[in-house]
Amino acid sequence: GIVVQDVSKRFGSFQAVDQVSLEIKSGSLVALLGPSGSGKSTLLRLISGLESPDSGRIFLTGEDATDRSVQDRNIGFVFQHYALFKHLTVRRNIAFGMDIRKMNAEKVKRRVDELLELVQLTGLGDRYPSQLSGGQRQRVALARALAVEPKVLLLDEPFGALDAKVRKDLRAWLRRLHDEVHVTTVFVTHDQEEAMEVSDEIVVMNKGKVEQIGTPADVYDHPASAFVMSFIGPVN
Ligand code: ATP
Ligand code: MG
Repeated sequence: GIVVQDVSKRFGSFQAVDQVSLEIKSGSLVALLGPSGSGKSTLLRLISGLESPDSGRIFLTGEDATDRSVQDRNIGFVFQHYALFKHLTVRRNIAFGMDIRKMNAEKVKRRVDELLELVQLTGLGDRYPSQLSGGQRQRVALARALAVEPKVLLLDEPFGALDAKVRKDLRAWLRRLHDEVHVTTVFVTHDQEEAMEVSDEIVVMNKGKVEQIGTPADVYDHPASAFVMSFIGPVN
């Protein structure tokens, strides 16, 4: 799993993440939920190693990863506008991380076939990104992130740029995918419905702090603060 221990990060005089501690169980799917500017992306970037904390520690699968490089953390990422390589086919995009690790070509091909099936894109491997819909592109990005068998999958509003109908479909699909793959996943959203529907646990953030951590039912039925209540509680 992931353990964040008393982590803080400031930009200039602005405290983006303020003494955050949390524990994400191995194999769970957790939503980071909060309004714009609450520090969700910064926390995700801290977990990934794209940012380093001013103070605090980050543990991945039991080991202190705070001083490790992004590459050494074995993490898969998908961002809202995570561009695929335009000049590469879907297959080569998915294989990218394996190609740079110089994995055996036959093995790579088998793995790409599996991943295409997993993200339900069998038959589209030879297309280029420009020949795919937005939802299909995000699924390619997910397959690419999963290709190197990460210990942790970090998704920053991966469906944010898509229309409501496609978002809803992908949400349900992400849940099913996670039930198959079981990789520890942290998923950023500012959409409470998305968080409620998809995740095992929700981390509610406000102004750089964690307001509450709990199952969707916990957070909904027993909001820990007025903020949580107003943000996701029954009185809205
Ligand atoms: P959103 O829902 O809009 O994506 P967020 O919860 O992901 O918001 P963050 O991107 O983590 O919020 O930003 C938290 C705060 O830190 C914001 O006020 C932002 O302007 C500030 N911030 C983030 N990154 C930087 C940076 N590199 N330099 C300066 N300020 C930053
Ligand atoms: Mg963000």
